[in-house]
Amino acid sequence: MKDRVAIVTGAARGIGAATAQVLAQKGAKVAVTDIDVELLEQVVATIKQAGGEATAFLCDVSRPEQTDQLVNDVVATYGKVDILVNNAGICPRIPVDEMTEEMFDRMFNINLKPVFFLTRAAANVMKPYKWGRVVNISSTGGRIGAVHNSTVYSGTKGGMLAMTKSLARHYAPYNILINAIAPGAVDTRMFANVAAEARDEYVETVPLRRFAQPIEIAQSIVHLCSEETTWVTGATLDVNGGVVMV
Ligand code: NAP
Repeated sequence: MKDRVAIVTGAARGIGAATAQVLAQKGAKVAVTDIDVELLEQVVATIKQAGGEATAFLCDVSRPEQTDQLVNDVVATYGKVDILVNNAGICPRIPVDEMTEEMFDRMFNINLKPVFFLTRAAANVMKPYKWGRVVNISSTGGRIGAVHNSTVYSGTKGGMLAMTKSLARHYAPYNILINAIAPGAVDTRMFANVAAEARDEYVETVPLRRFAQPIEIAQSIVHLCSEETTWVTGATLDVNGGVVMV
């Protein structure tokens, strides 16, 4: 991935931080973006200590003017954008009867809106090079529906899968490949807000009988961003320990 420039959103922690680190290990210059500047700087320092190249960019992905600016800033810093990983997301566990319109809108704005607006801004930079890779991080919830009080979340993640296919068709003439990954439960802060009993029950349903580590999702994301992926677009890769087989 030498000379490739990658943007990873939600990269201050969890799957995003692991993905930024693997991309940098493979030689990409990585724009790590999130809303927490201190954590971002720690991720950048870790990447640089390992000999990689990365820069932190503050960006709230729910704001198209900020995602447009992010792409401009990355181009100003690294000259182009080759790879985009739409990873930032939230999953507050809210029962159906307690969901508010405000929280509904917040979840769609953070989880789904950038899949359109940030992808469009990045793809406009990729187009002239006739090379691009976009990976959208969905969820098993987007594949089969909600578990653990995440009904609206699963709607955002299902929307991501449909939009992945539509954008993949739209940008295919420019050799911009757009795919999704649907992780099962990963050991990050996001799943830490599930009660211990529910976590244990969930693990019993996973054929591999454990949660994933962020690096295990990152490796699959990076594969879809690589030169080795040339004939896959509009696809969803299930990375879930076998819990959902569709
Ligand atoms: P995480 O550890 O909570 O990381 C998500 C990151 O996104 C956080 O750093 C968060 O910042 C950031 N973020 C939140 N709102 C943002 C915004 N408006 N703009 C920019 N960044 C924002 O979660 P994760 O488990 O690594 O999840 C990464 C992706 O994988 C998400 O899309 C998630 O839906 C998906 N996923 C996770 C699991 C799982 O079990 N963990 C399973 C399936 C899919 P703050 O910490 O400041 O909020």
